[in-house]
Amino acid sequence: MLVNGSRLLQVAYEKSFAVPAFNISDWSMLKGIVAECESLDCPVILGIHPRELEHVGWAFIDSTLALARAARVPVAVHLDHGELYSDVLDAIRLGYTSVMIDGSLLEAEANVDLTRKVVEAAHALDMSVEGEIGTIGPRDVQDAAEAEQIVYTRPEEAARFVAQTGVDSLAVAIGTCHGVYPAGMVPKLKIDLLEQIRQAVDLPLVLHGGSGNPDSEVALSVKHGIAKVNISSDIKVAYFDKLREVLTDPKLREPHDIHPPAVEAMMACVRHKVEVLGATGSARHYR
Ligand SMILES: [Zn+2]
Repeated sequence: MLVNGSRLLQVAYEKSFAVPAFNISDWSMLKGIVAECESLDCPVILGIHPRELEHVGWAFIDSTLALARAARVPVAVHLDHGELYSDVLDAIRLGYTSVMIDGSLLEAEANVDLTRKVVEAAHALDMSVEGEIGTIGPRDVQDAAEAEQIVYTRPEEAARFVAQTGVDSLAVAIGTCHGVYPAGMVPKLKIDLLEQIRQAVDLPLVLHGGSGNPDSEVALSVKHGIAKVNISSDIKVAYFDKLREVLTDPKLREPHDIHPPAVEAMMACVRHKVEVLGATGSARHYR
């Protein structure tokens, strides 16, 4: 069942679990994730960012929406990290049910202006909006110096941003980075800061880039207001590591022989993440 993103997150926020948002940009991953979430009875957000959309092409979104509508669990189709107003217009035209507008690299006032404009358009069309303040660093960390660029979200700034923009959910910077962390980096989530942000805003919060954080920290953040966790690198690593292994057999050439073991490996990662988020069986809350 295809649903609006904020309805997914409000229930998760009230019941203290988090909905996983998996980035997808190919058919086998998409099909595998929806099937696995159905078997776990877990709602899911399918995240597609503009670069991924460019890769798959617009026609792919029709199939994604068809799969979402037919699914036995609630599914939102979500623009991940839209940066431009035109990214949001693309998402509207394509029929997404949820968008993220990431103005976190803009000056504070410009971020508010852009986000408010997106909220006005999206809410008129029953789409939910996720905003971001503070920054979770560059898209993917390559070294420790980049990782140090995290700018933590300030609770009072979060409260002002939510009041001025009307967003439905907020991505917060509490000590995670995008991508796979460099060797030797030990990330630590600031749960005390998260709790202060929650007290200040009282709306579903979103965690990006938790690949290198221990499961126990991520699970704890879910108890303190995180209602959506973006998962990208981990499922892709599981998928492509297995694919590399499978492809060492030079005789293989059929996608229906090559992809399934990689999808299986990715599904194992999906099961693990859903468990950490406390979301196994949580689709029952939407019936
Ligand atoms: Zn992100």
